[in-house]
Amino acid sequence: MSDAPPVPTEARESERVLVAETGCCVVGGGPGGVMLALLLARAGVRVTLLEMHKDFDREFRGDTIHPSTMEILDQIGLAEKLHEIPHTKVSGPTLQFANGVITPFDLRRLKTKFPYIFMVAQSRFLEFLTSEAAKYPGFRLAMHANVNQLMEEDGAVRGVRYAAPDGTQEIRAVLTVGADGRFSQVRRLAGLEPVKTSPPMDVLWFRLPKLPGEPQISSGAFGGIGRGRIFILLERNDYWQGGFVFPKGLYQELRAKGVEAVRQQISEIAPRFTKHAEALKDWQQFTLLSVESSRCPVWHKPGLLLIGDAAHVMSPVGGVGINYAIQDAVVAANVLGGPLKSGEVTDAELAEVQRRREWPTRVIQAFQSFMQRRVIASVLMSKQAGNIPWQLKLLAKIPVIRDLPPRMIAFGPKRVRMEEEKSGA
Ligand SMILES: Cc1cc2nc3c(=O)[nH]c(=O)nc-3n(C[C@H](O)[C@H](O)[C@H](O)COP(=O)(O)OP(=O)(O)OC[C@H]3O[C@@H](n4cnc5c(N)ncnc54)[C@H](O)[C@@H]3O)c2cc1C
Repeated sequence: MSDAPPVPTEARESERVLVAETGCCVVGGGPGGVMLALLLARAGVRVTLLEMHKDFDREFRGDTIHPSTMEILDQIGLAEKLHEIPHTKVSGPTLQFANGVITPFDLRRLKTKFPYIFMVAQSRFLEFLTSEAAKYPGFRLAMHANVNQLMEEDGAVRGVRYAAPDGTQEIRAVLTVGADGRFSQVRRLAGLEPVKTSPPMDVLWFRLPKLPGEPQISSGAFGGIGRGRIFILLERNDYWQGGFVFPKGLYQELRAKGVEAVRQQISEIAPRFTKHAEALKDWQQFTLLSVESSRCPVWHKPGLLLIGDAAHVMSPVGGVGINYAIQDAVVAANVLGGPLKSGEVTDAELAEVQRRREWPTRVIQAFQSFMQRRVIASVLMSKQAGNIPWQLKLLAKIPVIRDLPPRMIAFGPKRVRMEEEKSGA
């Protein structure tokens, strides 16, 4: 729980349900939900954030903070403070193919104060944002709060019920936001259905040790392309973050062959990491990302809005999921902060959030789909050690298009800003 004073509660003894009230109830303490709660609390809205886990320290789900997010944090005076947390920086991948090495893009060419992907443990990032949010009196955080019911009145959602260690609780709210991720319970309860596409790959994530005296990778990221597999390495403070990309549906086959087969394939693709890969001994060291991509045709209904993965699951190409969830949060705070303070949010205002965020989501998903179909799929289908695809060579050579992918990855098709800062409010 945060240090903020509790909102008024009233016990309904017959049902043994504790009832609380708030302006906005945010379900899900991932990057999108936490950022929205912080921005609304900062704007003077009473906001309650519900997270089903007991803490933020859980399975790996990506640690990438892009320039877009850092610029927003800078606007609210938090970027410098975030840099005090142990981190590394990635400016672009060095890709090793059978016939040579290529760096398809470099974020250092972008015009921004933060021309890099800031790598920080997601748990530390979420703790950082919630501790900042707790400085505002309207913020309340409930961990171990598993939302399982929407409260509806007169055709509008008016809050949620959730299971807490001390029993069922109810939060009544002007607006409920489902920021509860790719398997969103709020989305299911609201009857909002996503349209899914299935990218051609899955990814295993794991850690590899750093060995004494080894050189750093200058751009912070390495990709090795081999026979139907891609091996990724990201520089972290005291370990390497490894990724192993393989064709969708082959996970069981891979498991049947044993960890040894993964070690062997890493060694084939990038022999200099053979020794590191010896640390992989058990499947428990891996996190499987079953790659999915989806988008809800409708993100809202009266009294309810979906943001982040709940509204659209992004493929991992470009590592944009966290940052898109955060951009949704910023736009939602821009559009809904005022109405929430006045105690009423209209359907038109909820639709406006979707209108502003849907097209950037469509654009980036189209970009990801192109990369998956034209570049990644051809590598994964190949039985040969891969050569540099012509599309990548072209990309690296033509100045006009060279900066498009890094700009898309860094910001999406349009930079998202906190609007109050622009007007000097
Ligand atoms: C293995 C893996 C690796 C990834 N790597 C990257 C990466 O490198 N870069 C990147 O940008 N993206 C990455 N992603 C995607 C990224 O994690 C998501 O896009 C991003 O976290 C979406 O943020 P969100 O806030 O919408 O949802 P989430 O981060 O999924 O947060 C949802 C939160 O809601 C909580 N919740 C769920 N149900 C309930 C409930 N009923 N009641 C209360 N709380 C609930 C969950 O516990 C969770 O904390 C990765 C994903 C996976 C699975």
